[in-house]
Amino acid sequence: MTIDTGAVLILVAAVAGAALGPLLRAQILHFAVPSEESWRRDCPRCGATLLPNTWRALPSTGRCPRCRQRIGPVPGLVEAATAATLALLAWRVSAPLPFAALCWAAVFGVVLAFVDVVVHRLPDRLTLPAAGGTAVLLGLSAALEGEPGRYGVALASGLGLAAFYLVLALIAPAGMGLGDVKLALCVGLAAGWFGWPVTVMAAMAGFLLAGLYAVVLLVTGKVGRKDHIPHGPFMLLGALVAIVLAA
Ligand SMILES: [Zn+2]
Repeated sequence: MTIDTGAVLILVAAVAGAALGPLLRAQILHFAVPSEESWRRDCPRCGATLLPNTWRALPSTGRCPRCRQRIGPVPGLVEAATAATLALLAWRVSAPLPFAALCWAAVFGVVLAFVDVVVHRLPDRLTLPAAGGTAVLLGLSAALEGEPGRYGVALASGLGLAAFYLVLALIAPAGMGLGDVKLALCVGLAAGWFGWPVTVMAAMAGFLLAGLYAVVLLVTGKVGRKDHIPHGPFMLLGALVAIVLAA
């Protein structure tokens, strides 16, 4: 019997992603609060202190361990999203350090996407470490492999995509925020590691997916023309699609 190491790695990544779910659920509950409120540590239903420190885990059932009421995302959804994302990255990216950098970005990305859907914000406490960790891990890879040019493209791509979103945020502050600008740093770095065209493709895929989603919501009458659709999840999804296609 032969064992396909690639398939084993994909499976390990999927299991690790699912296992991270309860930890990420705690982060989502912690950060999914309106900007005028302080980070949440209590159950929004019964007030029980669930997160005395931020590294607690919350059950995958999506229910409060004390009052059993639904809190946070739908059962299994965070686990499925993280497992699928890490498995896709393991399938397409074999170099260890770039894979670690993308996993770092992906784990923060899952939390950010859920937080953005709930409260329409992308906290600095998540976007900045996401970009920082990705930059460090890719930089380490570039230094060890002697690829300074590739790292330069990734850095320029992160800054370039952030500048692009900054222009959008200045032109249309209702549609795009500074959270999107800071998220673009991480997204541009990750996509730019695979070259400029991948960054362009990532951004275009993000807008395309957001547009399709908006059309579906409008057609089904779920939203009106004035409703705001968070762009963060689509920016992240667009980058994942572009990286999976191009890596
Ligand atoms: Zn509770």
